[in-house]
Amino acid sequence: VLLVQLLRSKPSGVTTVSPNTTVRALLDVLAEHRIGAAVVVGEESRLEGIVSERDVVRKLRDHGAGLLDMGVDQIMTREVVTCGPTSSVEDLMSVMTERRIRHVPIVEQGALVGIVSIGDVVKSRIDELEGERNDLISYIGNR
Ligand code: AMP
Repeated sequence: VLLVQLLRSKPSGVTTVSPNTTVRALLDVLAEHRIGAAVVVGEESRLEGIVSERDVVRKLRDHGAGLLDMGVDQIMTREVVTCGPTSSVEDLMSVMTERRIRHVPIVEQGALVGIVSIGDVVKSRIDELEGERNDLISYIGNR
């Protein structure tokens, strides 16, 4: 299964925030959309970073409640690992495991076209394996 196919099976659009969004506002965005990370986009739609709930938890330890009024640019990861739409779900699964990241933005010709979470990957793999299993069961039954 390719990422472009996975993206078709979920609502389109990527939740983004700007670098000066406060952590407090980020928490609202994450809760409202029921997601664990947001892509940080600056002027002219430039990809500036990614910020996840894990960043908030870790930095909360360093800064305490004062973190809430800081900008997300203070806690985001600037070197974003991205994938192209023609990569496979299996490849993405390895990337997520090796790098210990649960979110990967999908970029095509410099433009952000989607984001895939580890939950999306798990769902896609289960659907695929269940499909194969059902095919095998009916194949065996028909013999
Ligand atoms: P996550 O597992 O997605 O909650 O993120 C764990 C850590 O990796 C956090 O510090 C994130 O900022 C960072 N991170 C998440 N996704 C990416 C990505 N695609 N590229 C680089 N860093 C990431």
